[in-house]
Amino acid sequence: KSGLNITAIRDDFPILKREIHGRPLVYLDNAATSQTPTQVIDVIVDYYSRYNANIHRGVHTLSQEATEAYEGARIKLQEHFNARKPYEIIFTSGTTHSINLVANGFVPFLEQGDELLVSAMEHHSNIVPWQMLCEKTGASLKVIPMNADGELVMETFHSLLNENTKLVFCNHVSNALGTVNPIEEIIHAAHAVGAAVLIDGAQAAPHMVADVQALDVDFYTISGHKVCGPTGIGMLYGKEEWLNKMPPYQGGGEMISEVTFEKTTYAGLPHKFEAGTPNICGGIAFGAAIDYLNGIGFDAIAAYEKELLEYATERLLSIEGLKIYGTSKNKTSVISFNVKGIHPYDIGTLLDKMGVAVRTGHHCAQPIMDFYQIPGTVRASFSFYNSREEVDILVECIQRAVQMLS
Ligand code: PMP
Repeated sequence: KSGLNITAIRDDFPILKREIHGRPLVYLDNAATSQTPTQVIDVIVDYYSRYNANIHRGVHTLSQEATEAYEGARIKLQEHFNARKPYEIIFTSGTTHSINLVANGFVPFLEQGDELLVSAMEHHSNIVPWQMLCEKTGASLKVIPMNADGELVMETFHSLLNENTKLVFCNHVSNALGTVNPIEEIIHAAHAVGAAVLIDGAQAAPHMVADVQALDVDFYTISGHKVCGPTGIGMLYGKEEWLNKMPPYQGGGEMISEVTFEKTTYAGLPHKFEAGTPNICGGIAFGAAIDYLNGIGFDAIAAYEKELLEYATERLLSIEGLKIYGTSKNKTSVISFNVKGIHPYDIGTLLDKMGVAVRTGHHCAQPIMDFYQIPGTVRASFSFYNSREEVDILVECIQRAVQMLS
């Protein structure tokens, strides 16, 4: 048993007291975005109430306080992910921005004949930037296939690797299926042929802690809004040697050392990749969100979510005609499903009328839907603040929706 006090935890999240269409909100769309606890909301209010200022260049007190808090958040992330140096943590607007930054950074390192490996279960944000990179450089994209359980076919992965492979990218956890991918094996094998690895940790970060040094991963990305932080802030971890080699993504203020019309030199890390005024408050709140989660404890979160996943899986499978996509033994608390003969959108719409928030559609992972030959799924994604009672409500409401629709 996890030992989490769910009633007390739920009190931290004001939004969970909302009613939707006259029913208590049951929020099961945590994989899209997580809710925000008072502890983080207070940090945002405190920032704008007491020390809102631009950072890194002010001599005045407010600017110094804001700089200290922002750089303090960077150190929280460094410690959380066990990066060697604080400047290996680059603040971005989110995972999408982080991946585009790396895709742009690799333009000078690739040429015709080079190969990039992508997994079959990626979010579009870990596919499209690489296709754009291939268009610019002449490199080609190869796909690591998946099986019907929603797991990567690792034998094929190993056979795809060769001396032309320059980069491998894969999510740590699939947003559409919940599968936890064998990233240790992927990183190790990719390094053996000299390829760099980017792991999209957007869906892993709410459930587990990645140790970037132990993994020896080259790049790891997350979004603040999936870990109880605000939207518009995220992180790129990059190994120092890569970050030094890659060109900057955007030009502007903050990222330069010296500017003349003849030649501009760039600032060192992390500023080289942080052009312009950043999301200062977002960064500080991101740090507070990581503190909040660590305060609860990732071991307790994982244990509780495992119980909830098992309970929800069992209860959902008792519904006639319900099929779950993503049946790996190694998965997080995400359940993607369809009910025979019913469009996922129709179930989602009726669930909303009953106060239950789920996501429906392709979840920005169209290749997965093509693999299963379905238009989309209904996805219920659980967080540590969801309760067993909410699972019961979900099941009851699906049963009612199915009755109404069939
Ligand atoms: N990768 C994965 C696995 C995701 O789940 C998401 C968000 N749904 C993203 C990338 C993109 O994250 P963001 O929209 O925060 O940039």
